[in-house]
Amino acid sequence: MSDCGCEKAKANLYEMLRGELCAEESAPIREHIEQCPDCSDEQSVCINLTEVVKRACEDERISNCPPSELRDAILAGLREA
Ligand SMILES: [Zn+2]
Repeated sequence: MSDCGCEKAKANLYEMLRGELCAEESAPIREHIEQCPDCSDEQSVCINLTEVVKRACEDERISNCPPSELRDAILAGLREA
């Protein structure tokens, strides 16, 4: 299996979007996503998801992240859209 970078990019996407990766770690992933339609798509979903969850958290005034079921439901909805 050739390493096209997709696996690494997708595995680190959430961490990157949450700003948990240092510049050195996120730079090659950002670069890959820019050139890869598949990962770019995945990133859009993740960004939407992050925004929706953030808004849901603010609406409900929950300090912690919502349960994983909610996250999965939102993700499924975004993928179907
Ligand atoms: Zn990719």
